[in-house]
Amino acid sequence: MLVLSSPSGAGKSTIARNLLGQETSLSLSISVTTRPRRTSEIDGVHYHFISREKFELMRDREELLEWAEVHGNYYGTPRDPVEQALRSGRDVLFDIDIQGTFQLYERMREDVVSIFILPPSIAEMKSRLHRRAEDADDVILRRLKTAVGEMRHWSEYDYVVVNDDLSRAFLAVQSILRAERHRRSRSAAIGPFIDGMVDDLRRELGEAGVSDAEG
Ligand code: 5GP
Repeated sequence: MLVLSSPSGAGKSTIARNLLGQETSLSLSISVTTRPRRTSEIDGVHYHFISREKFELMRDREELLEWAEVHGNYYGTPRDPVEQALRSGRDVLFDIDIQGTFQLYERMREDVVSIFILPPSIAEMKSRLHRRAEDADDVILRRLKTAVGEMRHWSEYDYVVVNDDLSRAFLAVQSILRAERHRRSRSAAIGPFIDGMVDDLRRELGEAGVSDAEG
């Protein structure tokens, strides 16, 4: 479970999109939200846009792996698609906030790798939000205010990446994903695989004279 969090305007969505384009065994967790759809967004691709009533129903039926209220709207991760992807051996990418990240930590800390993405400066963050030009000024102001609280939590993340250059930041995130896939604790198959090789080697050399200490 690869979690990307950042204040609005840090360039996280672009990094996530590029990662999904290059990493074939990575699926995006598509959240449900009660936020109005932006004109560039497609229902079912960027989010599932749903009513507050539907959201509350899903939450009360425990159909959400985590959920939070962000900038005055509800956001949540549907549980089923994530569990299905993980069961089939795929990695799952989450674009969620700090509150959601903490909920995933509580449930399955050892399965979560979290990355906090920071903008290179506040000036750049503001200009990215305005350049996007899809949110009204009061919405942008609210997002900047939320960013103050969010940025204080950088130290709760496993990794921190400053997005001063998109291709460098992308490469950093991709390297983290690839390295974490090789973490010993994540591979259930590696123990039996190595045991098998050791057995083969023992057979070839003959048991006599090969002790555990030497091997
Ligand atoms: P936006 O409205 O810009 O798409 O997202 C606002 C914030 O909500 C972002 O920080 C994003 O990471 C977070 N967010 C999106 N989906 C979820 C979700 O399912 N759960 C949680 N906890 N946060 C989410």
